Amino acid sequence: MAPKGDNVVVSNMKLERMLSMKGGKGETSYANNSQAQALHAKSMLHLLEETLDGVQLNSPEVPFVVVDLGCSCGNNTINIVDVIIKHMIKRYEALGYEPPEFSAFFSDLPSNDFNTLFQILPPLANDGGSMEECLASDNHRSYFAAGVPGSFYRRLFPSNSIDVFYSAFSLHWLSQVPECVVEKRSSAYNKGRVFIHGANESTAKAYKKQFQTDLAGFLRSRSKEMKRGGSMFLVCLGRTSLDPTDQGGAGLLFGTHFQDAWDDLIQEGLISSEKRDNFNIPVYAPSLQDFKEVVEADGSFAINKLEVFKGGSPLVVNQPDDAGEIGRALANSCRSVAGVLVDAHIGDHLSEELFSRVESRATNQAKEVLEQLQFFHIVASLSFA
Ligand code: SAH
Repeated sequence: MAPKGDNVVVSNMKLERMLSMKGGKGETSYANNSQAQALHAKSMLHLLEETLDGVQLNSPEVPFVVVDLGCSCGNNTINIVDVIIKHMIKRYEALGYEPPEFSAFFSDLPSNDFNTLFQILPPLANDGGSMEECLASDNHRSYFAAGVPGSFYRRLFPSNSIDVFYSAFSLHWLSQVPECVVEKRSSAYNKGRVFIHGANESTAKAYKKQFQTDLAGFLRSRSKEMKRGGSMFLVCLGRTSLDPTDQGGAGLLFGTHFQDAWDDLIQEGLISSEKRDNFNIPVYAPSLQDFKEVVEADGSFAINKLEVFKGGSPLVVNQPDDAGEIGRALANSCRSVAGVLVDAHIGDHLSEELFSRVESRATNQAKEVLEQLQFFHIVASLSFA
């Protein structure tokens, strides 16, 4: 968790020690600002199920192991794990087998709010509670659960131990901001910006290289951990443009009102421009080609599907005519994913100032925000033959 005090500067702390979505259940928490991700995941369930249909079934005596990588904290991960396990149970039953025992690993970086996640996990179906208790809770789980802290760009599990890897809306997070992007003397120095969107070519190259190096590490690790016959279903932000400096929806989220709000703080004398230039969002929305090159170079996985899908808006609002609600939704959405990094860079107080400017800027442009902010996703279904 990022330190809580004002004006705490921990910019040089390793990203993987501090990155997390906003924990807890408050207004700006990830749990409260991830309904759009839930809808987008739901619209891809048929693709997930196709992937699961390709997973090789083991003998029912062997536990079946499912992992959600970048699970964050909230209902999305719990719902998806439930879908995966129910689907696999159906497959065993269709063949006349008694289903195996299931194990689910919820994995994320160590700062993730695992406490809240564990608290909202439904009780185990046969954990000794009375039948009444079981019926009173509206659901229960049919798997053993555990949290696994660590970066998915490295090894997390023993060799040959996992049947299904799922990862949604996570692989666009880089393991770090490329060093040259915040290095004053480098041609890739991203002066005047906090994101790759609209940056110069050297900055773009550095981001792309970081993404591809990270994804290669991810695939290398998974190819060790996966059982033969297992499958992976991966979804991350993607872009339709070939040009990496046009980041599409991610570009609008981090490259317009959020970006301009940093300029506001500078103009009001609250931070220096250097302070802003030292901050960059470690996100890269790849093109299909960027992604494919890495999967093919790795060579361990057969590609069942690798496509770009239109995901829709990241904002879920009740009153599309209410500019205030749209502005707040954009600021909260941005804060739920990037707030922890901003807090760590400029402290809680200035972070509050920054996001209130994001909100008022987005409120003033509410119509455009609602019309233009659309996400595309790369969806990959990969099998380990
Ligand atoms: N899968 C969830 C949450 C997505 S939010 C959903 O569908 O709603 C993205 C998550 O990826 C965050 O929780 C973030 O901490 C995690 N993440 C980012 N980089 C990571 C890394 N290197 N290793 C593991 N998790 C990472």
